[in-house]
Amino acid sequence: MKITDHITHANGKTLFSFELLPPIKGQSIQQIYNAIDPLMDFNPPFIDVTYLREDYIYKQHESGLLEKVAYRKRPSTVATCAAIMNRYKVDAVPHLICGGFTREETENALIDLQFLGIDNVLVLRGDARKSDSAFIPTPGGYSYASELLQQVTDMNTGKYLHADIESSEKTDFCIGVAGYPEKHFESPNLDTDFKYLKLKVDLGANFIVTQMFFDNQKYKAFVDKCRANGINVPVIPGLKPITNSKQLISLPKTFHLDIPLELSEAVQKCKSEKEVKEVGIEWMIEQCRGLKELGAPVLHFYTMGNPEPTRRIASAVF
Ligand code: FAD
Repeated sequence: MKITDHITHANGKTLFSFELLPPIKGQSIQQIYNAIDPLMDFNPPFIDVTYLREDYIYKQHESGLLEKVAYRKRPSTVATCAAIMNRYKVDAVPHLICGGFTREETENALIDLQFLGIDNVLVLRGDARKSDSAFIPTPGGYSYASELLQQVTDMNTGKYLHADIESSEKTDFCIGVAGYPEKHFESPNLDTDFKYLKLKVDLGANFIVTQMFFDNQKYKAFVDKCRANGINVPVIPGLKPITNSKQLISLPKTFHLDIPLELSEAVQKCKSEKEVKEVGIEWMIEQCRGLKELGAPVLHFYTMGNPEPTRRIASAVF
């Protein structure tokens, strides 16, 4: 079922959902089930599976020469989605990224997704490879999420890449995109970022999932700005509790967000990592209660493979 239909059927009730990473190459799918099982009590109508672009590793040959090899650490987003749908009978939402894909490969992936009965996709540009300082588009692929989104909406109208495809069937994907309450880090200002967010919605995005944030006022201001700019699709807050003190540095550095002073001071006062985790979970419980009051359609958790903090938060909130 489409995420927008799940939201409509919930009739104003806030839903619970979460996101996971596909298994590292060589690990079993059981690892994913272990990350999902503790969260099924909260009836997620959908579960997202991220997509990681290939990176480069250097292999040393006997001669001493280093060979640069493209390597995908977590290759199985589509298969993970299929396994989740098969086992749990919930919708799985694959993330589709520009990086690493030609248009042809994207088209083929979308055909696979349609055949698997996947109704939703989250369309993203993708992160830069760790070995690159900025995002480098794949030759024959896309530079921005809006371009990839256009390909999905084209297929939703039966338009494939090659005009000679006979009796092309229309897909019917419900399309999500990313939004940044604290601005995407490459954007010169929030208004410019909004211009491109609006472009994604005007091109057919059906819902927005936000980057994580720790201050509900940022979410409220973001939703208000969406509405003021004629962006009327559901805005799903993305959430992650702080679980260790190092995240005071790593989260702002990686995700370009602010941690409120009250939270950072509470973390700094903790005498152990166990206490930090408690502070992070308590903060997130309060945040979630506030988001429900603000009418958030779904609380969407970035579990990063560790379900326990999310389980504790969901137990207190749902
Ligand atoms: P875009 O919408 O393309 O925007 C990227 C930047 O370019 C922005 O600064 C925007 O303002 C600007 N821009 C957009 N269009 C144009 C244009 N036409 N001309 C000029 N500038 C433009 N990354 C992964 O690799 N895999 C994942 O699975 C993944 N999942 C994510 C899930 C969520 C909910 C979020 C919020 C992020 C996720 N990311 C993921 C990270 C995401 O790929 C990065 O934040 C990336 O840097 C931007 O992606 P985007 O889709 O927002 O890009």
